Amino acid sequence: MIVLVVGGAGYIGSHAARTLRQRGHDVMIYDNLSTGHEFLASGFELVRGDIADLVKLSAALRRVDSVMHFAAHAYVGESVENPRKYFRNNVESGLALLNACLDCGVRRVIFSSTCAVYGIPVKIPISEKNPRQPVNPYGVTKLFFENALEAYDRAYGLRFASLRYFNAAGADESGEIGEVHDPETHLIPSALLAATGARRELELFGTDYPTPDGTCIRDYIHVNDLADAHVLALEHLARGADSMAVNLGAGRGYSVKEVLTKIEEVSGLKVPVRLAGRRAGDPPALVADPSLAEKLLRWKAMRTLDDIVATAWKWMQRQSTRALSP
Ligand code: UDP
Repeated sequence: MIVLVVGGAGYIGSHAARTLRQRGHDVMIYDNLSTGHEFLASGFELVRGDIADLVKLSAALRRVDSVMHFAAHAYVGESVENPRKYFRNNVESGLALLNACLDCGVRRVIFSSTCAVYGIPVKIPISEKNPRQPVNPYGVTKLFFENALEAYDRAYGLRFASLRYFNAAGADESGEIGEVHDPETHLIPSALLAATGARRELELFGTDYPTPDGTCIRDYIHVNDLADAHVLALEHLARGADSMAVNLGAGRGYSVKEVLTKIEEVSGLKVPVRLAGRRAGDPPALVADPSLAEKLLRWKAMRTLDDIVATAWKWMQRQSTRALSP
């Protein structure tokens, strides 16, 4: 297939682009580099453009048969403070992208969705049957796009896969690409930065949750397991399968304390921790029931928490070498 990876210079998109290429597909990357990085797209044809730029986008879309859409803002806290930014990019520009797909004859869209569409889950592990009741603007924008895909499928025959990620983490095993966020707020890179002394400490958000050790439980999923699922979903649709919405998680949760212990074990360094209050909007536990993805795509997480932390650590060490090189 010929695939336009929109947002392919970002964290998950860049890993998906490589996996697509390894599986023999042709890949073009489309990215405005607002949060993406050119070096994450190196080796690929990169069209630098915004999804709101219809002329540029349409020219790229006419050259492909499928789209993977990663171009969205993804900070929960920021979406609460600046919802306008989120509705403009994730909804308005997202819809412009979807309409352009229709107009340019693209008939398959793989969408980067999130477990945030479930909000505070009524049941754990979370299956796709859980009601979708997002509790922040970020989740609302993702749910909006899922709903648009469903309507476009029924009305226009556009086939899609909405892939609801749990906690994406880790980096490519090569050490060449990985997570680069500014600001970096995620647990694993933040803890590694604290371990190396690049940050004074890791703030541990909440130790009074109703979990065995009092800290939040999350389902961490390696970015290359996510990338594999994207390619499998695309190939499944190309074989004539129906559209789908599936959870992508390992189906196993770890507490923040367990993750910190693993980070210390893998890096051999101590993570300086400061106990802080709960972060607004953090549910105590989010764990996927990934059985639908396993059934439909024959996919399941192959990489462990050890792999996640080891690759994130390798990536961080490479990054500091890169920063120091002239
Ligand atoms: N967390 C933390 N300190 C940090 C960052 C995260 O204690 O500096 C906790 C956070 O409260 C959550 C878990 O680690 O329970 C994972 O947070 P992250 O921001 O990585 O992902 P999220 O679950 O928000 O998507």
